[in-house]
Amino acid sequence: MAGILLEGDHVKDEERAAHARALAAKEREKSLRRAAEAKARVGPQKLGAALQFPGTAISDRVVEPGPFTCKLAKGDHLRIIDLEGQQAVDFLVYDAENHENRYNAANTIKINRSVYVGKGFKLVSDLGEVLMTVVEDTVGHHDTIGGCCSTEVNHMRYGIKGTPSCRTNFITALRAHGMEPRDIPANINFFMNVPVRHDGSTEIVDGLSEPGDYVDLRAEKDVLVVISNCPQQFNPCSGWNPTPVRIIEWHPSRGK
Ligand SMILES: [Zn+2]
Repeated sequence: MAGILLEGDHVKDEERAAHARALAAKEREKSLRRAAEAKARVGPQKLGAALQFPGTAISDRVVEPGPFTCKLAKGDHLRIIDLEGQQAVDFLVYDAENHENRYNAANTIKINRSVYVGKGFKLVSDLGEVLMTVVEDTVGHHDTIGGCCSTEVNHMRYGIKGTPSCRTNFITALRAHGMEPRDIPANINFFMNVPVRHDGSTEIVDGLSEPGDYVDLRAEKDVLVVISNCPQQFNPCSGWNPTPVRIIEWHPSRGK
């Protein structure tokens, strides 16, 4: 989206913030209309499909914008449902036995030969192991180059201090597992749309996911998953309006 930032070295924080707030208010209106239209058109069918899986739910939670973490045993699945559409879900995964063996975006891009995460994608670690596989995906296009939003970069971009952010959420979630900010590598952003153009330029643009779209990931080892359901209000990654997602951990039926 062009014009999302007020550019220039001499722009003051207050000017940048006024621009960001005015733009966000305008874009939020448009985004809410788009989401309501999509929900009326496809919401019930998509959500119905998202709630079908060949196994038993271990847990089923609605997660508001903020941190979330869980451990998954090898073979179990994690399903992330975008309930309202266009909601970035920032995602990290670690080997449960060795947190230094963690998601590595560059290795994952190399092994899958794409910057866009989708069905069949193997999430590769620092030590060249597959931690999880994306086994279902109703969107077809997720990001792993845009990184997580942070309070500091929000200030830099939008002139507003103290905003909630995915980096803060990651730190909160990681602390529960004895980890620190340095344990945050480049992450995946499910449902976030960051196209890379032919000339190499890239930016966050409107999300492609509609209400009820989902991804399903299978753990290939025992893993620790750390998520920030993105609280960003000043760019399109969360439709200018952060909303809850539904996260289901499930165990496949025998023979599946
Ligand atoms: Zn974020």
